[in-house]
Amino acid sequence: MIIPTEPIGSLPRPRALLEGIRAFQEGRVSKEEMDSLYDIAVRDAVRDLEATGSSVISDGEQAKPSFATYPLHGLGNLAPDGATIPFSDGHVRQLPRLTAGPFRYATYADAYLAAAQRHAKAPVKQAVISASALSLIYPPGGLAGYPQGAFIDDLLREHETDIRRCLERNAHTVQIDFTEGRLALKLDPSGQLLKSFIELNNRVLDRFSAEQRSRIGVHTCPGGDRDATHSADIDYAELLPELFRLKAGKFYIQLASEPNRARVLQIIRQHAKQEQRIFVGVIDPINARVETPQEVRDRVLEAARYIAPERLGTTDDCGFAPFSDDESTPRETALEKIRARVAGTALAAQMLDR
Ligand SMILES: [Zn+2]
Repeated sequence: MIIPTEPIGSLPRPRALLEGIRAFQEGRVSKEEMDSLYDIAVRDAVRDLEATGSSVISDGEQAKPSFATYPLHGLGNLAPDGATIPFSDGHVRQLPRLTAGPFRYATYADAYLAAAQRHAKAPVKQAVISASALSLIYPPGGLAGYPQGAFIDDLLREHETDIRRCLERNAHTVQIDFTEGRLALKLDPSGQLLKSFIELNNRVLDRFSAEQRSRIGVHTCPGGDRDATHSADIDYAELLPELFRLKAGKFYIQLASEPNRARVLQIIRQHAKQEQRIFVGVIDPINARVETPQEVRDRVLEAARYIAPERLGTTDDCGFAPFSDDESTPRETALEKIRARVAGTALAAQMLDR
């Protein structure tokens, strides 16, 4: 048997690219030079990911400013002082705030997908940001002439287009990044915010056929930025039953770094639906130590005691650099971890065949 294994998305960017981005922001590098730097970085990320033996790859998110803000980059109707996300080490990330309607994406993710496919031999998956994450850019006080309902209609249509374009461009999977799911329980322990996020995202998933939804996935994690998290202290028992209400076919679930994996696996067994494939995190990108293939194998075998192997897959707990300026993990460490994931998943599949 084959157990599918997929990355979440981001790989640490090379120094030359990060320096190029800075130079471009300061006007020292032209748009053409910048585009060429991005293309080289994507080509190298594709080459490095294919060299790990991965049968499904990403573009390493080399050209995304961040997993959450790529649709917004370059829009004129934003201010920098939007909602803040505090991390466990004290650092904060801030979303932009919408200043006027109508809301449109500046970039759809299939542009990244197409750039990677030009270099790739392996199938490429594409991550997109959820509607619920982007809903946070609407100011709590409202906007004159652009009521929240009109914003949500625009947002859902744009998010649907983002997914549809990636599916049409033959993405292996379109993965919706839903890191704010667990965060929602921290912001609102009553669970109402999480429920509203699930309903919002389902309004878009409802627009796709069952066949299309089988190629749409959802990623959950407690955040991973500069080796810190935003909601690892929130209990999975609160999140997972709600999470599996999302009408998606694949779930990419941070698990390697959980203190009690067996308990989480039990909750997954109880609440995941028959048609949902579960990709368990077997690699912790925040931990500098590289997992061995044997460790990965044992984590897969552990998961297979709770989830039928036919419904199982493996992944990393999160991307390795969801924000472009995150240099906390060396590129080579990330690649070693991915190699261990690929090798360990294959070892587990062999054992399960016996
Ligand atoms: Zn993540």
